[in-house]
Amino acid sequence: MTNTPTAIEFENVTFGYPNQTTRFKIDSPKNAIDIKKWHVDQGRSVFISGESGSGKSTLLNLICGTLVPTSGKISILGQTFSKLSERKRDRFRALHIGVVFQQFNLIPYLTVKQNIEVAAFFGKGRKFAPTSSIINLCSQLNLASELLQKPANQLSVGQQQRVAIARALINQPELLVVDEPTSALDTSARDGFIKLLLACAKQYRFTLLFVSHDLSLANYFDQHLKLAEINHAQEVVE
Ligand code: ADP
Repeated sequence: MTNTPTAIEFENVTFGYPNQTTRFKIDSPKNAIDIKKWHVDQGRSVFISGESGSGKSTLLNLICGTLVPTSGKISILGQTFSKLSERKRDRFRALHIGVVFQQFNLIPYLTVKQNIEVAAFFGKGRKFAPTSSIINLCSQLNLASELLQKPANQLSVGQQQRVAIARALINQPELLVVDEPTSALDTSARDGFIKLLLACAKQYRFTLLFVSHDLSLANYFDQHLKLAEINHAQEVVE
């Protein structure tokens, strides 16, 4: 055991979709997630891999509190989610967890600045972030200040990706969750994107979870969690 604070802790967590069935027995429900024990220390970068259908999206939703486990305990940054109402979980997420979605989920008709401001507004104190902090963050992410007034739907994929990171980081989250965003990029752009994320993680000291099925990316990260090894495992995998 280390003395480093824990960012994520799972204990005997199961989650099953109400209408989920196994492939072979139509009437036999099977849990999408069944993890006996898993923890991540704060400040680590973790690569999570798994085949399609192995439970990656479900796991991320449980970590973000958008899904609640059927049984077991999940603690994120020391907060046990099952003790929070849905509203409090939403608030906790807005304050402490940044998410970069696969499709970036920018609001297409809003400008880059407005996209970031909306996230800031729903984060700390319902206030718009000062323009100076948006400009600083964007310049760190190699987004020229001229882009701030451009609608998101006029950006390249690489620019959208960096805006999605800026939006996720504006509230200085302790945990950043990134869902396989690299599929639309070529190899060098993808490597650049991951290096940028890791540099931000080091500078802002957040825990980074990066989900992908592309195993060649695992070497960039401190830890590699193979979902297949801990999900539905009979024994606890340390
Ligand atoms: P991944 O992200 O690794 O592709 P998912 O977490 O989406 O995997 O899915 C894990 C399992 O849960 C799969 O068997 C999938 O079919 C099932 N599943 C996912 N979402 C739903 C849903 N809304 N209803 C029923 N079953 C679902």
